[in-house]
Amino acid sequence: MPDVFADLVGQDEAVTELRRAAAAAAAVLRVGAADRTPALIAAGPAGDDRAPAGVDPSAGMTHAWIFTGPPGSGRSVAARAFAAALQCVHGTGCGECPGCHTTMGGTHADVRMVVPEGLSIGVGEMRALVLRAASTPSGGRWQVVIIEDADRLTEAAGNALLKAIEEPPPRTVFLLCAPSTHPDDISVTIRSRCRVVPLRQPPATAVAEVLVRRDGVAPDVAQWAAAAAQGHVGRARRLARDPEARKRREAVLAVPRRLTGVGAAFDAASALIEAAEAEAEAAVTEADTAERAALETALGAGGTGRGAAGAMRGAAGQLKELEKRQKSRATRAQRDALDRALVDLAGFYRDALTMALRAPVAPVHTDTAALAGAGAQKWDAEGSLRRLEAVLACRAAIEANVKPRIAVEAMMLALWKG
Ligand SMILES: [Zn+2]
Repeated sequence: MPDVFADLVGQDEAVTELRRAAAAAAAVLRVGAADRTPALIAAGPAGDDRAPAGVDPSAGMTHAWIFTGPPGSGRSVAARAFAAALQCVHGTGCGECPGCHTTMGGTHADVRMVVPEGLSIGVGEMRALVLRAASTPSGGRWQVVIIEDADRLTEAAGNALLKAIEEPPPRTVFLLCAPSTHPDDISVTIRSRCRVVPLRQPPATAVAEVLVRRDGVAPDVAQWAAAAAQGHVGRARRLARDPEARKRREAVLAVPRRLTGVGAAFDAASALIEAAEAEAEAAVTEADTAERAALETALGAGGTGRGAAGAMRGAAGQLKELEKRQKSRATRAQRDALDRALVDLAGFYRDALTMALRAPVAPVHTDTAALAGAGAQKWDAEGSLRRLEAVLACRAAIEANVKPRIAVEAMMLALWKG
């Protein structure tokens, strides 16, 4: 039976560190429990992780962590697995006990997960979370707060979190996920109070292996998808299983051969933007409709008598608030979709560059390798590099809030001119 760390692909060092910390945390609970409530020890199974005499049982465990790594490397997978190990009755993340099961299934009462739906996590959400995190864990182990995309905290929300991390309640653990510990992602003061677990881009062979083992994907499809996804586990799985995702990728990789002139460059830019919009809309429409229906039901359609007019005004405010949140989420989904397309495109020009340099490395996109080879001959290494840089510059510009259409048009012109 695989334990909770089984899905953390190609991250042996991080897993070793997290296992050690989970064992230390279990030891802390045993010592702490012995001081106050002997009943808790009797309830838990006896383990071999009791700290040796004279050793500080808290060594190896800390109350604030940051998981960093490129998108798809498994930051939130690692955070959730560690949370499960903390709640595991064996203190190991066995994968079988109720603590492991409920945490992995997202229903453990003492594990809270913050997933920003819009562009940022606001201060109200963070304050409420910090307040609840300070309460005593109902399961007798730890209160765990997982913050996905901690780089999207607003400054005020970051400050609210910092206060909690500075004076942590004794049984609360914060697990933050962010691309890096660069000050743009995580404030220096929060960083200084957390232990960092760096995750690396998992090798394609490790990603392919997990697709075969867990998702039952055919080995040759798994190999192709793992390489095409460039180490992004979730993306590899989608490419292997979702024909729509494959179709979108093919359309993106058709861009280089469509760039035959200025008009074609603008057309390609429009097509790329519209494809990202369509993909994002498909992703959020269902959730939007369900949310609106749920809110309208909760507010009660119609209503008469005293207070009804006031209630209607309140309802309008809540609906407006919901629309604002949904719009922010749609924008985020569009940016994410566009970014995926740009990563695919960067992979194509990276292939052209390595071919021009005759570097002995496998191509990212095996299915467009011939096309990349033709590009390499035409552009040489220098022209391939300039095009790769144009794609990366486009990503950076969008990240810096340049309007996506402007950035993509500039990129397409650069790709055409070289
Ligand atoms: Zn367990």
